[in-house]
Formats: sequence, structure tokens, C-alpha cells
Amino acid sequence: MAEFDYDLFVIGAGSGGVRAGRMAAARGVKVAIAEDLYLGGTCVNAGCVPKKLYVYASHYAEGFHEAKGFGLDAGEPRFDWATLRDNKKAEISRLNGIYGNLLRNAGCDIIDGRARVTGPHSVEVAGREYSAERILVATGGWPFVPEFPGSEHAITSNEVFDLDSFPRRVIVVGGGYIAVEFAGIFAGLGATTDLVYRGDMILRGFDREIREFTQQEVAKKGVNLCLNTNITRIDKQPDGTLVAELTDGRRLEADQILYATGRQPKTQGLGLEEAGVRLADNGAIVVDDNFQSSVPSIYAIGDVIDRIQLTPVALAEGMALVRHLYADGAPVSVDYELIPTAVFCQPNIGTVGLSEEQARERFERIDVYRSEFRALKHTLSGSDERTLMKMIVDSATDRVVGIHMVGADAGEIIQGFAVALKAGATKATFDSTIGIHPTAAEEFVTMREVARH
Ligand code: NDP
Repeated sequence: MAEFDYDLFVIGAGSGGVRAGRMAAARGVKVAIAEDLYLGGTCVNAGCVPKKLYVYASHYAEGFHEAKGFGLDAGEPRFDWATLRDNKKAEISRLNGIYGNLLRNAGCDIIDGRARVTGPHSVEVAGREYSAERILVATGGWPFVPEFPGSEHAITSNEVFDLDSFPRRVIVVGGGYIAVEFAGIFAGLGATTDLVYRGDMILRGFDREIREFTQQEVAKKGVNLCLNTNITRIDKQPDGTLVAELTDGRRLEADQILYATGRQPKTQGLGLEEAGVRLADNGAIVVDDNFQSSVPSIYAIGDVIDRIQLTPVALAEGMALVRHLYADGAPVSVDYELIPTAVFCQPNIGTVGLSEEQARERFERIDVYRSEFRALKHTLSGSDERTLMKMIVDSATDRVVGIHMVGADAGEIIQGFAVALKAGATKATFDSTIGIHPTAAEEFVTMREVARH
């Protein structure tokens, strides 16, 4: 008789947990995966996927106006929130089903309910105890909302996708990925949108010039930027209107107030500390390079370890861990360098590698190439949207160390260039690459003049 019920018990069926569970099961490992909310986790249900669908929706709204310059006039478009929301719901249900099938077909047992670690080799779900040789915690993160009077009236990215009605006036709080993306979605769909950010420039951590440029473009799209300020209280009026008081004395009215002030590792109530698993101050599970926690049989990957909160990173971590545990036993090697990322604001940001500021710190001398222009499409569309592209080169080696873009489809464009950077491409390699004409992407292989060193 087997010593344990399972070889691997995964807690959390999000991006990282599903990938690790499936990969392990495909290698003949006996896997259970417990989930109490939704298959696919945040990315599929309340994150990347529905967000991108809503970004498409808001681009359509703009597209109707731009089409007129090309001779197509469909009159004034009318937006129906319920159609978008319900079509999105149906698509997400379909994806939930696919995730279930993927897991079952791989041979994983799906256990419905909230799991609690009860020991180094035991997990309890819905009153039943399971034993496992190894436990993998992949519970992800959860939105963080600061506490202040009236903070209970705020919503987060958990609620925003399924609102009963479309808010005509929205306040979005924060200056990170989620805040900037949702400000763009709401403004694009016609809501009066205020973005309240405590700093002087949104998207801290990105290249400074990219931030400045994005801030200008976001404002041009109708997002009202309220910088260097924060909400101190929210009051709900009898008619449901929310009134936010700001530190600068202003009062803003809204139908919804969305807090996008970061996400925290979801470790509460999991029994981890009682089992001896060391947590960081913010609740993240502390793991070593092999994703092993302070309890040797308990591992963790994805947002719950708070390294880089991105789905593709959780997938890479899951696959690396399974290879380590069940294939070659070699140390885990997830390369956290040169991770490309996109912010689906309007226009998008796509970026890989170092910002100009980081590159200046790291290298003695750099060459910065930049190109700013109005995309060909907008010569007829009437839109005043502009595109910025930037390339940063280490002068000593000619290696391209950072590429940044603000413009249509920046995420799509940067993915390919990320491969070039991983391969160690030099500026000379870029220069010898023939462009695809006419595209915006070709600018990256035709930048000849150094803008500054
Ligand atoms: P971020 O950490 O990106 O941004 C949080 C923002 O909230 C920052 O601007 C921060 O300000 C501000 N903030 C934090 N605490 C407070 C507070 N108490 N009062 C006021 N403002 C505050 O988190 P998000 O919630 O936007 O997203 C979480 C993560 O999810 C992202 O970091 C990203 O990794 C991932 N994500 C990725 C996406 C993508 O790939 N396209 C899309 C969405 C999310 P300050 O800068 O001053 O600290």
C-alpha cells in the first residue's frame, strides 16, 4: 500500500498550480489539486483574460470614430455593458471547463473546497484529510485595499468585471498596471474617469520617459489624472453616489471607486505558519532557489512567493519545479532576467530589459535611440495618439539591453524582440535586420541616430 494518498497535493488551481499539476501528472505522478473559487485562478477569472477582452471593447469604441476618416460611418455607437459582461462570462465559463478537462485528462484529481495544511504531509479539505509526499502551495494573491473611513465602499479587480450596471463616473485609485489599464477601459467605454495616484508620475519602476509619455497619452484619451493626492474617506449618498475626499481638499463624485493598490500573497488561513512554514512580513511564502519552503516537503510558486506577479512567470516556475522534482533532479533554473511585459493601457506599453535609468547605473556608457511618431493609421483616423519607441545599448559591447514601446500592439511587438535580447542581440544585429514595411515595429531596426549617451 502506498505510504501517501498522493505524491503531490497542489493547493490552488490558478496559472502556476494547474501547470505544475498537469506537468507532474503527465509524468505519472499521482496529483490532487484543490480549489475553492474558480479553475484558472485570477488570470482567467478576474485578471488578464477578462481584462484583455474589456480592453478590446474600449478600443472598438474608439474605432467607430476613427473609421470615419476611412470612409466608414456607422453613426454614433451605443455601448451595452450587459452584453459585454455576459459574453465575457460565457467565455470564462468555457475556459473554466477547459481547465477542468485539462486537469482531469492529465490524471489529476480535482478536489473542490478550501484546503488547509495540517502538517508537513497532510492537507484537509471540507473535513477530509489527505496525505501527500509533497505539498505545493500556489494560492496566488488577493487585492489589497488600505483601511480608511468608507473603504468598504470601494471595489477591487475581483468585483469590477461583473458590475450590475456600467458606472458613468469612475474613480480609479493607484498608478500601477491594474489602475492604468482600468482607467483606459472605463474612459474608452465612455465613463468620466478620474485616476487618483499618490505620486507625481504613474507606473513607478518603468523607464521614466516611457512613464511621462504614457501619462500624456492616457490624459489625451480622457483620463483625468489626479496626481500627488490620495483618498482620505468615502461617503455613500442616499442615491448611491460615492463622494471621495482627497488629501488636497478636493471632493470627487463617482458611481464606483476601484482600488488597484497592489496585491498581497494569499496565505491567510492556510495553516502554513502552524505547520512551520516561514512567511515574509507581507505573508509571502519564503522559498529557496528550488521553491522549497522552510518545511522540506512543502513548496510554493507564483504570486504567493511574491517574486514577479505575472502569469508566464508562474508557469515557468511550475514547469521548472516539476522538472526538478520529477525529471532530472537538477537545481531549478528560472531565469528572471529579461522578462518582457506589457501594460494594456491605451496605447499599450511593451517593454523588455533595463530602463534608461537602470542601464545608466549598470554600464559606464550607454547609447539611447528613440523614435516618436504618429502611426500611419492615424494620418487618416483623426486620432492624435502618438507612438514612442526606445532602445538602450551598452556602448562597450554593443548589446541591446532594453527596448521599450508605447503604441498600438506594443505587447505583440515586444514579445519577438524579447527573444532577440535573450539571444544577446547587438545593435549591429538589429541594424542588419531588414524591416517589414510599413509597420511600426520596423522602427526598431531602422534607428540610426543616437539620441543621447
Ligand atoms: P502595482 O503594484 O502594479 O501598483 C500598485 C499601485 O498602487 C502603485 O501605483 C502604488 O503606488 C499604489 N498604492 C499602493 N498602496 C497604496 C496606498 N495605500 N494608497 C494609495 N496608493 C497605493 O499593483 P496592481 O494592483 O496594479 O497589480 C498587481 C500586480 O499584478 C502588478 O504588479 C503586476 O505584476 C500584475 N499585473 C500584471 C498585468 C499585466 O501583465 N498586464 C496586469 C495587471 C496586473 P506607488 O507606486 O507609489 O507605490
